[in-house]
Amino acid sequence: MKKKTVNSSRTPVYRDAGFELYDAGTTKDAFARETGNEREPELYIYSRYRNPTVVSAEEEVMKLEESEWALLTQSGMSAIDTAVSVFQKTGITSSWLFFSEIYGGTISYTESILKNRRGIRVSYFNPVNEVYDLDAFAAVLRELRPGLVYIEAISNPMLIVTDLQKVIEMAHSEGAAVIVDNTFATPVLCKPLSFGADIVIHSATKYFSGHGNITAGVMCGNDDSLMKQAVEYRKYVGHMLSPDDAYRLQTQIQSFRLRFEAQCRNAVGISELLVHHPSVEKVWYPGLPGHPSHQTALRLFGNRGFGAMVTFGFGGKSEKERKDRRDSFIKAVSGSIKIIPSLGDPRTIIMPVESVWGAKYPDPGIIRMSPGFEDWQEMKDTISGALDKAL
Ligand SMILES: *Cc1c(COP(=O)(O)O)cnc(C)c1O
Repeated sequence: MKKKTVNSSRTPVYRDAGFELYDAGTTKDAFARETGNEREPELYIYSRYRNPTVVSAEEEVMKLEESEWALLTQSGMSAIDTAVSVFQKTGITSSWLFFSEIYGGTISYTESILKNRRGIRVSYFNPVNEVYDLDAFAAVLRELRPGLVYIEAISNPMLIVTDLQKVIEMAHSEGAAVIVDNTFATPVLCKPLSFGADIVIHSATKYFSGHGNITAGVMCGNDDSLMKQAVEYRKYVGHMLSPDDAYRLQTQIQSFRLRFEAQCRNAVGISELLVHHPSVEKVWYPGLPGHPSHQTALRLFGNRGFGAMVTFGFGGKSEKERKDRRDSFIKAVSGSIKIIPSLGDPRTIIMPVESVWGAKYPDPGIIRMSPGFEDWQEMKDTISGALDKAL
């Protein structure tokens, strides 16, 4: 093979859909080797199978999650689809248990795809007073004997932190595999594979890419057998990330840690600002001593932070008053803080909770905020000013 040498320090964007295979013998060889699960094939064949730019971005994720494998996909949802596919075998009829306070898209997926189309028995484990009770979890495990347990490290939008180490231990002792969605916590706060999680997934659309300009997902794991099945699924279903997005992710992920740490710091500042403001009735931030998950967060995350999401609710005597305050806040910040249905962007973005999760959280005074990494003084002035207007 002729080596093309350009002294670039990065893997460039290889946009080839199919790669050159030189002659009939090499082609035959390449396809014979292509079992779909080789880590480093001698030759690339086709970008839906494997692409060098994607592999290079995967290596960045592996460093962060300290995993043996990372598979990039076109979205967080396709990472979830790939991850659960590994546990879906014909003839296995055990039910799957999903912690209930997970990403809305994941709930839609479990309902519409897993339950209604694939006929999987899906159950949900609900928190009580914003805490997932582990004794209740033990009872549910014994009763349902699920084959799979699915949990988010920090829940959405009320930011429940659960003792992952215990959940994983308990699930394993009852024979269930565990998938953790680590999008909100990120490997800066915890690495679920180190607690024995079977698979960790991320929406790389969020903190990993961190600029609101890529839709991507990733699935990490250490178990060769599981991961090889996932490689096969990604290949046959076509969930592979595009080389252009992989290139941008590969670059943007290099600043992930700095960005996330700055966002966590801003989240702490915002949560304190909110707690002390008379127009605000409730603040959900695991860093606050009053948050139901504070102790668990301290235990699980040590001194690494409490995450970069803050949810808060305006007070008021009536629903209308709380709604008016929310709307006045949204209007007051609109020059710099926009309503954008995502998180982890460079700039602070918000979501009115009732507009999205109204069935579960009907209070119209609640806002979910994803702090960016703007200058703190500037951010503080914007938010304080808007809170004063909401009084
Ligand atoms: C956004 C998100 C997803 C889905 O990711 P996409 O990249 O939008 O497909 C899954 N889990 C969590 C926690 C998310 O925030």
